[in-house]
Amino acid sequence: MDITGSCLCKAVRYRISAPPIVTRVCWCRVCQYLGAGSGTVNTCFPSDAVHIEGRLGDYRSVADSGNVMHRRFCLACGTPLFSAAESRPHLLFVRAGTLDDPKVAKPSVTIWSSQAPSWACISESLPRVPGQPPPAG
Ligand SMILES: [Zn+2]
Ligand SMILES: [Zn+2]
Repeated sequence: MDITGSCLCKAVRYRISAPPIVTRVCWCRVCQYLGAGSGTVNTCFPSDAVHIEGRLGDYRSVADSGNVMHRRFCLACGTPLFSAAESRPHLLFVRAGTLDDPKVAKPSVTIWSSQAPSWACISESLPRVPGQPPPAG
């Protein structure tokens, strides 16, 4: 069964025809901007299984690793929906808050925990990676 989701205003909708590869909680400094102070929850899919309708903005940045990142968001309501690295175009990370059924996203790891503020609530039941994890696939 397909996985579906949208931005807050529904101008962007997507449908995914593959199960998630992995879901990770990310506390990197960039995610703290996107997550309004918290970390973000990101579910990874094969990019060719994700079908998107609607207009997206694309914020391009270069990570410390040298990776060129694209973060895509709804031009109407600003909701961040997707991120991808140019070096791994076969993977698309979906911001889990945009899934119609949030239960689809079950984090298995917390990454970039070293950048989390001291007050951050980080699950004790998940393994932590202090920085960049190995590639998702
Ligand atoms: Zn929107
Ligand atoms: Zn992050």
